[in-house]
Amino acid sequence: MLDQIKYKSENKIELTADELKYILNISDLEEMKSLFEISYKVKEKYIGKKVWFRGIIEFSNICKKDCYYCGIRKSNKNVERFMMKEEEILKGAKWAFDHNYGSVVLQSGERDDKAFVDFITSVIKKIKEISEGKLGITLSLGEQTYETYKTWFDSGAHRYLLRIETTNKNLYSKLHPNDHDFETRKKCLYLLKDAGFQVGTGVMIGLPEQSIDDLVNDILFFKELDVDMIGMGPYLVSENTPTAQLISNFDEIKERQYHLGLKMIAAVRLYLRDVNIASTTALQALKTYGREMGLKAGANIIMPNVTDTFYRSSYQLYNDKPCIDENSDLCIDCLESRIINIDEEIGFGEWGDSPHFINKNLKVNDKDEN
Ligand code: SAM
Ligand code: SF4
Repeated sequence: MLDQIKYKSENKIELTADELKYILNISDLEEMKSLFEISYKVKEKYIGKKVWFRGIIEFSNICKKDCYYCGIRKSNKNVERFMMKEEEILKGAKWAFDHNYGSVVLQSGERDDKAFVDFITSVIKKIKEISEGKLGITLSLGEQTYETYKTWFDSGAHRYLLRIETTNKNLYSKLHPNDHDFETRKKCLYLLKDAGFQVGTGVMIGLPEQSIDDLVNDILFFKELDVDMIGMGPYLVSENTPTAQLISNFDEIKERQYHLGLKMIAAVRLYLRDVNIASTTALQALKTYGREMGLKAGANIIMPNVTDTFYRSSYQLYNDKPCIDENSDLCIDCLESRIINIDEEIGFGEWGDSPHFINKNLKVNDKDEN
């Protein structure tokens, strides 16, 4: 079957759902290695030997939502809540800019009050000011109204990450309280597109009760939505959360979570080809070199944490989050050498927009001109 998948990937023939399922079910380590060689080739063909950095600033853990799996959910009383000041966020953005990162990601718990919306609008404008418009801005701030998305887009942010988490509606409802609605989240992805954003989505991989068929359907959903970026990663246990109570043997399944995370990257690269795919911190939480392995499986984005170390321990979505103590200067040295070691080049100073988004717009412009 892998030969057939290789042939199809070399000849731009779309994989079937059964082939995606085959990929996700591979358990033989040699076969997995061959799979990653195939998916890496596709990455090389459509993206090049390139990795783009997005400096992520996790500026607040205050959240009005209560997702059952998340360490900073509203009901977790063991978390000390924080909200960084504007100048602290700008300091992180300036650090990223000075170190030639092409863009930053602003991420936080979800809030939709006016003070928050205005605060973000101001931060976006100021990041643009201090970088003379050069730093790209991605947002990951949850579900908002069209007006809010449009305001943030018009202020200068141009990419937005909103994971659908899982496309199995039944599973979605088990992972969230009743007032967290799958259809609303899905609708937000369309609102983001309408507002002009490059849109990224993704899922958690290896959730309790999630099947391989669910993951295949997630990949089909990414295609249906025609997204530009994928940010997905293994589900990791966060103690004191309801979802964690469903798993008694997480240590035993860590290896499976890790491999499933890598196989999802490979499957998505083979199926969607020219989108940006992040190799997420959750992979690194499972294996020291997890993020590098994600790149070798077909991912092309890394989001180094540039948040002030003072706040990092309060933004723990799951147990054993890496790089909590290392400051950004240490992170960049360690990351650069790791990436050079795997023979990839860092796209310093570039926004690193998804080739899928660029190609889509070229086609629209061509049509307009004809
Ligand atoms: N609040 C915004 C939202 O939910 O879209 C953005 C921040 S939220 C912390 C970012 C992502 O963290 C979520 O989309 C979710 O997939 C991920 N996450 C939360 N808890 C997790 C866990 N226990 N394991 C892995 N990923 C998790
Ligand atoms: Fe809040 Fe996002 Fe965590 Fe859900 S995943 S509880 S919205 S921070």
